[in-house]
Amino acid sequence: MQDHPTPSLALAQPPPAATPPGEKLPLAAVALGLLALLVAAADADHNRARLSLYAALALVSGGALGWAWLAFGRPAAGWHPHDLWRRASTSRGAVAWATGVALTGFYVVLYWFPGLLENLIRALDPFSAWLRHRAADQWLLYGTFYTLAVLVLGGRALWKYRSTRYHLARTASVMFFQLGFSFLLPGLLLALQQPEYYFSYFWPLKYDYLFPDAVGKLLHGGGLGVFMVFWGVVLSFLATPVLTYFFGKRWYCAWVCGCGGLAETAGDAYRHLSDKSRTAWRWEMRLLYPILGLILLLTALLWVGASGAVPALGVVTGPLGQLYGFAIGSIFSGVVGVGFYPLLGSRVWCRFGCPMAAYLGLLQKHFSRFRISTNGGQCISCGNCSNACEMGIDVKQYAQRGAPIVRAACVGCGLCATACPRGVLNLENGPREGRLAASTFIHADSLRIL
Ligand code: SF4
Ligand code: SF4
Repeated sequence: MQDHPTPSLALAQPPPAATPPGEKLPLAAVALGLLALLVAAADADHNRARLSLYAALALVSGGALGWAWLAFGRPAAGWHPHDLWRRASTSRGAVAWATGVALTGFYVVLYWFPGLLENLIRALDPFSAWLRHRAADQWLLYGTFYTLAVLVLGGRALWKYRSTRYHLARTASVMFFQLGFSFLLPGLLLALQQPEYYFSYFWPLKYDYLFPDAVGKLLHGGGLGVFMVFWGVVLSFLATPVLTYFFGKRWYCAWVCGCGGLAETAGDAYRHLSDKSRTAWRWEMRLLYPILGLILLLTALLWVGASGAVPALGVVTGPLGQLYGFAIGSIFSGVVGVGFYPLLGSRVWCRFGCPMAAYLGLLQKHFSRFRISTNGGQCISCGNCSNACEMGIDVKQYAQRGAPIVRAACVGCGLCATACPRGVLNLENGPREGRLAASTFIHADSLRIL
């Protein structure tokens, strides 16, 4: 589909293409669904609130899927920027700010004022009783919204990127892990009177899974608890380095992780907003690795404290743990990480805050076979690849020089390669030898004119 069927010769930016009439109906259903959600949140009658909530979820999901099919499922497959830099919703315009305020507001209420969500939470009681054999809480409400967002907007991603098997597979994968491992399985565990455990999250992302308290409780919980501790240790310290050696950090960040899953589906329309400047990269270095260091230090101190060797450590570890949970676990990963999607791009948390991304990135940069090779001789410097990169990597700079991209930040989403009109970029798990070698097609003299 062309963004502008009639070529414009104007020097000023042309206005974005109007929304086709056919797409207005499903978008109206989404708006109606959001209204029904507000009605459910304000209705103290649980039966009525339940009806409003279910109607809201059906309208929002059905409307979003209908719109996605019309916008992405019918036109020719492939990379289409779809006016992203001209629409108020995806170019930091008024709609984007309003969405950002609504999202951050939701997270603030979820973490610190869950009482305001009481009507919505109670509306989910029958579903919770069916799935988890207990009353609903705010985390079930959040998990329901989160999972629906990944599934519905995962449908949009499947349609949008249907021409590329890689995107079909990884989108289906994040949908599967979110629904199965982050929603249904933890609920089932609760129904079976077991700890609510997320098998797709590991330390240091799920930092408390290897804290002495949590490990002690799991070990006392019988065979399944012992298996959970074993699973966590093996995934953090054995499977993660081995899989990253063979496939790069993409095996987790673009295929398994729930945060990455939301970014790749609900956040796809915001990927171009990631800042490619050197200043942003400096902030990445200043924040990401100190956060990994902090959680390493905290975990080590907690274990030293638990061993009884230094009893006074509790004075430090208690406040430090609370500070980490508040600043990183709640504010950074939730309020900023998702709330700022419409303003800073879809991978704010992954890029600047996630200790798992830092750990995977170090492994990827120094001990992995993964790289993006570039055939610089073909590059026409259009910049599509840099525009598509959600991790703020200026891919074009590498492509112009025929240099391989071996960056700790790259999550291997593959969108740069899909966006490239010249087939310059290729995600590879080749041998480590020659991994950093630049293209032989580009002579040093050529760089002067690139
Ligand atoms: S460099 Fe390419 S594969 Fe890596 S994160 Fe950016 S767009 Fe995705
Ligand atoms: S690598 Fe491809 S997308 Fe990137 S600037 Fe070159 S031609 Fe454009």
